[in-house]
Amino acid sequence: MSPTSIAIVGFGKIARDQHVPALRDNAAFSLDAVASRNASLEGVAHFRDIQTLLDERPDIQAVSLCAPPQVRYRQACAAIAAGKHVMLEKPPGATLSEVEDLRAQAERAGVTLFATWHSRYAAAVAQARDRLRERHVTAVDVQWKEDVRRWHPGQEWIWEAGGLGVFDPGINALSIITAILPEAFFLTQGELEVPANRQGPIAATLAFSDRRGAAIRAEFDWRQTGPQTWDIHVETDAGPLALTQGGSCLRIGDEIVLEGDDVEYPGLYARFAELIARGESDVDVAPLRHVADAFLLGKRVEVEAFHE
Ligand code: NAP
Repeated sequence: MSPTSIAIVGFGKIARDQHVPALRDNAAFSLDAVASRNASLEGVAHFRDIQTLLDERPDIQAVSLCAPPQVRYRQACAAIAAGKHVMLEKPPGATLSEVEDLRAQAERAGVTLFATWHSRYAAAVAQARDRLRERHVTAVDVQWKEDVRRWHPGQEWIWEAGGLGVFDPGINALSIITAILPEAFFLTQGELEVPANRQGPIAATLAFSDRRGAAIRAEFDWRQTGPQTWDIHVETDAGPLALTQGGSCLRIGDEIVLEGDDVEYPGLYARFAELIARGESDVDVAPLRHVADAFLLGKRVEVEAFHE
């Protein structure tokens, strides 16, 4: 089968760091164009924006949308209307309603829509899910703490409405726990710490409960300097399980049973190829729904202004 001709739209940090290498290593795709206002990739056709790309390159079959979430919906509408398969970076939109509409549009158009959650493809996540399937979870503790100055320098969009603030990385933890925990869970309480000069939170503490009453606590913080923390600890009737290093390392009790490489984006593109081949879509909004619930239910507390 000939490779699917794909274009990246919004050529920023994640496109450069992860999408390009993952696409170059995947024979199911041919990276044939980039649409971005200010950036391009040597040796690949460049267009200023998605509409020009769609107008001038009808041969492109799929697009991977890597711009900030606030512009995702309009770009995806244009691509679906042009009959392209669409891969959405996380979060899949600025609102849940947008994503639901995209799902309906893709179905009507008969194209694949893939709302990606890259952390679900971290090396140890599938095994954690399998091991928890038969267990009774009694408590969960999520610690997702990183330095915003180190990982998001100059990204103004991340603080603005739709950018999610600390939930931009935090939603990765939510994408993992919604995949591995055997029961649905619901927000019961939340506190969002919002800098006086910003719209999005710099830190948040969320408390959830599952159907059986297990306490699920999550702390997100963007003010952590030094070692960074992306850990999930799960207590079960058969002892503790921990997913650390963003989901790449699995510990059962005191024993490390798996420590994998960074395989998230190769996994995403393998899944996108599979969905296209099967004529299916994969749109799970559960992580974004929990963030929306946090904004609905969480108490906003103003904290010190943030300056880069
Ligand atoms: P970024 O470095 O700011 O890049 C996004 C690019 O999109 C920009 O360089 C810009 O390129 C384009 N863009 C920005 N505003 C736009 C607008 N209003 N209209 C059209 N294009 C616009 O951001 P990023 O870190 O790559 O993140 C992009 C998405 O990937 C986010 O949803 C983020 O959550 C997700 N993500 C990021 C990471 C990470 O580690 N950074 C990891 C996983 C997922 P031009 O100026 O050239 O148009």
